[in-house]
Amino acid sequence: MDLMEYQAKELFAKHGVPVTVGTVITDAADAESAAEAHGGKVVVKAQVKTGGRGKAGGVKLANNPQEAAEKAGEILGMDIKGHTVHRVLIAPAAEIAEEYYFSFLLDRANRNYLCIASIEGGVEIEVTAKEKPDAVAKVAIDPQTGVDDAKVDEIIEATRFPEDVRDLARDMIKKLWKVFVEEDATLVEVNPLVKLGDGSLEALDGKVSLDGNADFRHEDHAGFELVEDVDPLELAAAEKDLNYVKLDGAVGIIGNGAGLVMSTLDVVAYAGEAHGGVKPANFLDIGGGASAQVMTDGLHIILGDDQVKSVFVNVFGGITACDAVANGIVGALDALGDEANKPLVVRLDGNNVEEGRRILDEADHPLVTIMDTMDGAADKAAELANA
Ligand code: GDP
Ligand code: MN
Repeated sequence: MDLMEYQAKELFAKHGVPVTVGTVITDAADAESAAEAHGGKVVVKAQVKTGGRGKAGGVKLANNPQEAAEKAGEILGMDIKGHTVHRVLIAPAAEIAEEYYFSFLLDRANRNYLCIASIEGGVEIEVTAKEKPDAVAKVAIDPQTGVDDAKVDEIIEATRFPEDVRDLARDMIKKLWKVFVEEDATLVEVNPLVKLGDGSLEALDGKVSLDGNADFRHEDHAGFELVEDVDPLELAAAEKDLNYVKLDGAVGIIGNGAGLVMSTLDVVAYAGEAHGGVKPANFLDIGGGASAQVMTDGLHIILGDDQVKSVFVNVFGGITACDAVANGIVGALDALGDEANKPLVVRLDGNNVEEGRRILDEADHPLVTIMDTMDGAADKAAELANA
């Protein structure tokens, strides 16, 4: 899970990393009082899970509370690289003397941890790394020893932190390593880590990715999940005990069993190449039961996704035989009425397949096309999605 800046700063504060947390608001009307509480001169920052907010106009300084309200109004609702701004952070404006870059990350390729740091921060580290590779220090960290005093000194040397901030930087590095280890993070990034006018250091921005595999150790991490991050269709599916994952394409997929659904995704993606690059829109496994109710729930969710242009129902009859599945489809289309408004390609196989096809034939629903093979059905569904 990736955290927002204000959430990252909450974790930083918990481990003693110097930060100014500020106040998060969702309504520009609350900006004035928040700005007053922080001394009037503030920075207004879009809270979205993407970098480069500054460049995109999502970070603005305000000289007084009125100005803060104006800026908050401008930033709230803004689109930054496809992320809508629902929250802004109001924090005291920092007087910046120098901007550094600092990060700890999981280095999967080398089965190691890595520290990347630079005294030329504030800008994108990828750009600095390309244009001035010498200005970017990379220090490998052995997971067995972690960041001990010797490693801290090595990082300080490699980064060439100025003498006057070295002691503070040492302390900051140790605390950021604590955040990384104790919170089970795969990334802790501070850009910029700033030297303020008074010579102190502060994490002015924060980016943290938490390892979901360790969630069981961190009850408090669940609180970082934000409502707008949960896809409403995924939520609706979870409530019905359906295994649904939203993807980006246009062919909705319903199947029974994860293996069949996964191979259906592949077949649709392959068939889609001949139809304008159409791709699967989701992964929906209705599991063992394919009753009218389960089919109705499944179709309701898939048809609720505006990106879906056609639906491919691919079911292999087992304990729930094909006739039951066919009755489920017919019953679902009845129950959905006008809501069922996209073409359905159905491929049934397995137990009682003849009877299943007969039921669908007899129902003769105008939206349903029956296909015999998986490849043929995938091709038809892709063609209809691209029509
Ligand atoms: P990002 O663009 O998404 O990485 O957002 P940052 O939080 O890193 O802010 C971008 C830039 O805005 C920083 O590098 C600073 O130069 C500037 N900035 C952010 N907060 C303040 C502040 O409190 N005071 C001043 N003077 N500049 C700030
Ligand atoms: Mn930043």
